[in-house]
Amino acid sequence: MNSSDYFLSNEQLIDVLSLTKTATAIHVTEDAIIQLANEAMLRVWDKDSSVIGKTLEDALPELKGQPFIDMFKRVWNEGLTISGTDTPADLMIDGTLTTVYFDFEYRAIKDAAGKTICILHTATDITERFLGQQAIELAAEREEALFREQALNEELASANEELASANEELSAINDELQQTQENLYSLNVELEERVFDRTLKLVTSQEALENLNSELKRSETWLDQILSQLPAPVVVLEGPDQVITTTNEALLSFWDKTRDEVLGKPMLEVFPELRSQPFPAQWKHVLNTGEIIVNREKPVIFNKANGTKRLYYVDYHYQPLKDTAGKLVSVLATVIDVTDKVLSRQQVEQAENKLRMAIEASQLGTWYFDVNKGEYVFSARLKEIFGFYAHEEMTNELATKQITDEYRDEVIRTVNEAIINNTNYELEYAITGFHDKQLRWVKATGKLYAESGNNPANFSGIVMDITDQKLEEQRKDDFISIASHELKTPTTALKASLQLLDRMKDKPSPIFPRLIEQANRSIDKITILIDELLNSTRTTEGQLHLTRSVFNVANMLNECCNHVRVAGKHELIFKGDPELEVYADEHRIDQVIVNLVNNAVKYAPDSREIYLIVEKAANNMAKISVKDSGPGIPADKIEHLFDRYYRADYAGSQYSGLGLGLYISSEIVKRHGGEIGVDSELGHGSTFWFTLPVA
Ligand code: ADP
Repeated sequence: MNSSDYFLSNEQLIDVLSLTKTATAIHVTEDAIIQLANEAMLRVWDKDSSVIGKTLEDALPELKGQPFIDMFKRVWNEGLTISGTDTPADLMIDGTLTTVYFDFEYRAIKDAAGKTICILHTATDITERFLGQQAIELAAEREEALFREQALNEELASANEELASANEELSAINDELQQTQENLYSLNVELEERVFDRTLKLVTSQEALENLNSELKRSETWLDQILSQLPAPVVVLEGPDQVITTTNEALLSFWDKTRDEVLGKPMLEVFPELRSQPFPAQWKHVLNTGEIIVNREKPVIFNKANGTKRLYYVDYHYQPLKDTAGKLVSVLATVIDVTDKVLSRQQVEQAENKLRMAIEASQLGTWYFDVNKGEYVFSARLKEIFGFYAHEEMTNELATKQITDEYRDEVIRTVNEAIINNTNYELEYAITGFHDKQLRWVKATGKLYAESGNNPANFSGIVMDITDQKLEEQRKDDFISIASHELKTPTTALKASLQLLDRMKDKPSPIFPRLIEQANRSIDKITILIDELLNSTRTTEGQLHLTRSVFNVANMLNECCNHVRVAGKHELIFKGDPELEVYADEHRIDQVIVNLVNNAVKYAPDSREIYLIVEKAANNMAKISVKDSGPGIPADKIEHLFDRYYRADYAGSQYSGLGLGLYISSEIVKRHGGEIGVDSELGHGSTFWFTLPVA
């Protein structure tokens, strides 16, 4: 058999090709008309056999824009074989444009003449493999990326650490660098300064050297100018002779001298009056020791041109001056006249002293309100007036408590009003002493000084004890009523006698003599009262003139008080020295004795014996006493007995009297330079006594 006998026909070949698993197609012409496409290729394309005979573009219109149609053209025209692996193609599968991956080959099949007769197109769908491969690669890539990232991270971390430590090192190095730079800079500055200083010093010392000479020349005149224009008075005293070498206008005008009168002369030659004053010794001391002497407000006396002396007060400062070799050569004295200041201060001090003395002498209590402490400050005397001890504390509250109920509210109100209205107040009120419980009358004044300049507001005042004055007033009031009463009794009696006489004047009656006698007695009483009043006022006004003579006291006593002896109710008994003579106004002393004896009769009616005693007392005095054995006088009354208008028994009902007898007696005795007093004990009588100078 011929081998050609076994060859398959073209159709058979095509059928076989159709059965291969490899997608196969045969295209002709440059438009790749599909002459054959096996089942596998149709599946790839997702087409049916209707594509046979169509150009590739018609069969698969989705290939438009993709490279394949052009590839076929080239394979046909150029007789090439083009192949590709993992090549994507977008094909319409199930109506959706899907990317499919192929390994493909377009092979030009040529005839013997080398002309392309068809293109054998084989393709294997490797989409699944490709995608799987891609997934694997992606995973591997991811893993690698992850790994790389991790490695990178680690590297980064360690790099970071390294960076940090490098940074630290860098900053340390930087610090060091900066420090070094600073050091360098300050060294530089120092260096520059030193260089500058040196240069400056050099320049300055050169200049100074140049200037020194000229300045030296000028300095003397400079010093002179400065000193002469200085407002403080100065003088330079040179050497042990204290020669005035320099001074200025200020001191010359204080000295009242011209420059020529003093310059170049020893100080004590110009002012010899200073020789006896302490200054020359002090200048010597400064010159010898180099010590400075400073004194304030020292008196200095200068002789004036008109021959008088004048006292000044000066502040001075003596200072040693040395020459260039350091030797003490002169004294620079600065002298400031402070006379006006000292005198005005002395005046203020004197005024204050006077005021203080006046306050002390007048026994005034003073107080002020301390604004800083916010409390009242009371003087010792004021505390005494309020019945406190001078050293103990007395608050304003305690003081207010001592004011009697009758006045307290009024005092508080008035003081408060004065503070509010910035006015003065003047009050009279009664207080009960804190310790002694004594009733005292005071007159209080106060004033609020408003704040002015540097002086803060100030509230102060004085309190005066006016108890005596008040009691005197009271006694005077009582006296007037007593005096009227006393005068009324004899006047009424006189009037009655005269009326009777008048009625009976036409018919003389045997009682006429009695009426006349009664009228005379009344007149006598009135005369005595008027005498007492007159004596009292005369005494008070200092019109009590004495006519002194030497007389024997015993004789005088024997002759006086005959009215008592005649009345016969009392016996006057003389005792003592019958020879004693005194130098006194006999008439006035007689008046004193009559007063004392009358009192004994009046206040000791039951004391039959009244002793008149004369004796010699100390200090060349004679003591004359009138002693009764009557009721005596209470101790607390005794000190007031000799006061004007004082009557121990104020009721005045038992005994009449003006309370003037003892007062007048005491004034008469005191005028003689004697003393008067009483020794008395209740129930044991009283002895009134007085002394007179022995002749
Ligand atoms: P007068 O007798 O007018 O009252 P005096 O000055 O003579 O005034 O006396 C003052 C007071 O002294 C009298 O009121 C009386 O209380 C008291 N007095 C004076 N002498 C005696 C006496 N001998 N005994 C007791 N009391 C006396």
